Amino acid sequence: MSAQPGYPQPYEDADNAPFLAAWRKGVLALQRCKGCSKAIYYPRPMCPHCWSADLEWFEASGKGTVVGYGVVWRPNHESFQPEVPVVLVEVQLAEGPLMLSRVVGDDREKTRSGAAVGLVAMPDAARYPLPTFRLA
Ligand SMILES: [Zn+2]
Repeated sequence: MSAQPGYPQPYEDADNAPFLAAWRKGVLALQRCKGCSKAIYYPRPMCPHCWSADLEWFEASGKGTVVGYGVVWRPNHESFQPEVPVVLVEVQLAEGPLMLSRVVGDDREKTRSGAAVGLVAMPDAARYPLPTFRLA
């Protein structure tokens, strides 16, 4: 399976290339600061907590909890129209950072704050250009 045709694609640069490469294999990669040990998302060259530039990549669990969500009935890009309603979520990852993403699946309208979510696994993951979740 390959990425859904027509989806807007993420801009790739030196900071997020490892993140995007991992996701193409269905893996959620996060950075961890070697200075303060905190996990970091989104990808960046410097720790937002202690400003250390000594960061490493690791494979996250893919587990998280919905902090907040929004249900979109009129997406602003035509490629999402067949997937209405689109459920946008802010997920608190088990490793700590917050991530904006989507919940997909037939039960996505049951998304609520506090719901447990897990990363979409391969081969379905290949459909989405960025890490995407299902209700756990
Ligand atoms: Zn740090």
